[in-house]
Amino acid sequence: MRGLHWFRNDLRLEDNRALADLFRVVDEWCGLFVLEPRLVDIPSVSLKRLSFLFECLDDLSNNLDQVGNRLVVVDGPAETQIPQLMHKLSISVLSFNEGTTPFAKSRDQSVIASVEKAGHRVLKRRDHVIFSAADIRSSKGSAYSVYTPYRNAWWKKYSLSDHSDTTPSKRPGPITSLGPVDTPKILIHLKNNLERPAFKGGHQAAQDRLNQFLNKPVSLYHQNRDRPDLDGTSRLSMHLRFGTISIRECFKQAMEAAHTDPCYKSGVQQWLDELIWREFYNAILEENPRVLQGNYRQEYNYLNWQNNPDHFSAWCEGRTGFPIVDAGIRQLLSTGWMHNRIRMIVASFLTKDLLTDWKLGERFFFEHLVDGDPASNNGGWQWAASTGTDAQPYFRIFNPWKQSERWDPKGDYIRRWVAELRDAPVSHLHSPTSAAQLASDYPTPIVDHANRRTAALMEYRRAREQNSEAQQGV
Ligand SMILES: Cc1cc2nc3c(=O)[nH]c(=O)nc-3n(C[C@H](O)[C@H](O)[C@H](O)COP(=O)(O)OP(=O)(O)OC[C@H]3O[C@@H](n4cnc5c(N)ncnc54)[C@H](O)[C@@H]3O)c2cc1C
Repeated sequence: MRGLHWFRNDLRLEDNRALADLFRVVDEWCGLFVLEPRLVDIPSVSLKRLSFLFECLDDLSNNLDQVGNRLVVVDGPAETQIPQLMHKLSISVLSFNEGTTPFAKSRDQSVIASVEKAGHRVLKRRDHVIFSAADIRSSKGSAYSVYTPYRNAWWKKYSLSDHSDTTPSKRPGPITSLGPVDTPKILIHLKNNLERPAFKGGHQAAQDRLNQFLNKPVSLYHQNRDRPDLDGTSRLSMHLRFGTISIRECFKQAMEAAHTDPCYKSGVQQWLDELIWREFYNAILEENPRVLQGNYRQEYNYLNWQNNPDHFSAWCEGRTGFPIVDAGIRQLLSTGWMHNRIRMIVASFLTKDLLTDWKLGERFFFEHLVDGDPASNNGGWQWAASTGTDAQPYFRIFNPWKQSERWDPKGDYIRRWVAELRDAPVSHLHSPTSAAQLASDYPTPIVDHANRRTAALMEYRRAREQNSEAQQGV
């Protein structure tokens, strides 16, 4: 029997759930990647993410070559391409790991329907996260909307689950009559025109990064994770996004590191708890697909966002006159990645200081992040805007100057990304009056934080009151 594994956000051969299932039932197989129109929808997709994806695909293809197999890449909608290929190659089993977004779910349903209609079998598994939304329920059977109880329930479930690797030791062979398959023209064109990614793609690169992180930085992760000036976090987000490393492997190897050396315990615990944020936002999206369209908390539907185009442009260009904000945006534009603390600061600044709709920031991030992930991106933005499930309260507004002083104390991060401020003394970087005089080509702050804080508090309060009145039918 012949099988086809449709690779999506699981670009690896190791510890891949649906692929392991396929290996158990077929004698011959090959891998497939579908370059769907949505994936290459420039400019709504990050070119850096696309370039990282192509590097991951090259790596996967090389790994398949090494075991005498092939990765077939086709372009077009999966709903038509997959049944056609299965028919052409007499393949009777399709496997894939399921997606979370409403788009992925509905596309998958169409693919399953047409493959099953043709009399073939589909093997579908959960692989991208350890637990899906349905796995983590309160004692009353309801889904969690607050992180801490979710995390506690998550760990309880994890401790009761079997984590042994179920990958079969025997791999089926390649499809003998596969013959030459043309590389889609669009893939060749894009590859020739994209710049090389700032982060190395592929399974080996992910494993190397994990080893390096678990070798030392993780032991200080609980202390350093908020410091953008240090290399204190794993930078595995883009690998987890494309599945070049398995989330189960990350847990397993980190727990082994903590077991081997007790000094690693606090750092590892904190790191794994961060990975559970990823599971949490994934579950929130699964349970509430509507979050992709608007506020989770309906009371904030009454917010009157100012959406000042000049403010938004200044933010997008990293020219707000707030050095920590500008450094973050410039890091994103230059590398396709931004430190988590800085993501929180720039998102708070856009939504609270500039009273700009979080959906604009969410889209901008998605257009630039290599790790751009609908669930985590939406969760992060709604958290910062105080409109989400487990959001920061609306009255807690980040002060960019204080954040900058606390988390980038020597100003190294700012100086690295804001060229105009490269020679500025640290005492000038964290204060509005000094920052303005720093360099003739660096902008003065576009707003006054104290005034904007007051305006945001008033607007959030007004929106809540309007909502209460509407609820009471006033
Ligand atoms: C406004 C905003 C937007 C964000 N958008 C994304 C996004 O599109 N994709 C994305 O992967 N993360 C997103 N995050 C979460 C977080 O910023 C990144 O996961 C993290 O910075 C990646 O760096 P790292 O791999 O070094 O993380 P580490 O600190 O090493 O953490 C390990 C892993 O845990 C997960 N993680 C950590 N923090 C979070 C979090 N708050 N939410 C969800 N997962 C988390 C990530 O998979 C990360 O790789 C966003 C956060 C905010 C505030």
